[in-house]
Amino acid sequence: MLNKSSLFTVIIFTLIGSAETIVAAEQLNNVVVISIDALHPEALALSKIPNITKLMRAGAYTLDGRSTDPPKTLIAHTAMFTGLSPGESGKVDNDWIPGEITVEHETIFDNAKAKKFKTGYFFSKERLGYLVNKAIDVHELSQDGAIFSAESFIKTPGRHFVFLHISGLDQVGPEFGWLSPEYLEELSFIDDYLSVLIDTVISKQNYLLIVTSDHAGHGKIHGSDHQEDYRLPLIVCSDIIEVKRFQGISFSVTKLKPLLENLLEVGS
Ligand SMILES: [Zn+2]
Repeated sequence: MLNKSSLFTVIIFTLIGSAETIVAAEQLNNVVVISIDALHPEALALSKIPNITKLMRAGAYTLDGRSTDPPKTLIAHTAMFTGLSPGESGKVDNDWIPGEITVEHETIFDNAKAKKFKTGYFFSKERLGYLVNKAIDVHELSQDGAIFSAESFIKTPGRHFVFLHISGLDQVGPEFGWLSPEYLEELSFIDDYLSVLIDTVISKQNYLLIVTSDHAGHGKIHGSDHQEDYRLPLIVCSDIIEVKRFQGISFSVTKLKPLLENLLEVGS
């Protein structure tokens, strides 16, 4: 049994403890997930990409990420959004056109919405419209303007959760080859284009920035069962959440959803 004095001590310590917890766990303002379509992890060391390199150095990264089977754009993004394998989600084909049925499983946006974020989804391939659901406040298909639209959205007042899909490497890869000079130059171009967005998110503080991809390729081929086609990187960077535990981990696209749920819980 606690006497009156020790009970008082316990209460005081409890109050101090919870006060410290509140101070330590700051709230995330901006969560931005960038999926660079068809990004081979080895390109990160071969390309001139100062902005992405800055995130890799400040945060943590792994080159040991793996796509779905088959490693194709919409199938892999569905796994990222739902945390489910193609067999579990039922999305086993890589096609979608407007008017067709959209995703019915809970996605990363449902969790972000429940955590009171304003949600934005900016993508550059029509088929990714399959992943639009009611938890998304703003969505836009734009071949060339997705980065700029995401940037404008983040500049509006409030806390934002953004998924940004960037196309380019998925066209240069099949034409010139994965890791070809043209492919590496395209990645430099994308990095340069991301500069303002990344700087904006960092300057607003209390951020979580994730850069990943849906699959890679080999030669001029992708989507096959060649092991290079399954590869992808994961970069995690935050100014308020410890992320070093992600350094060098084995990652899979189906792990993105639980990873985000965990980090949003820490930063909410
Ligand atoms: Zn793709």
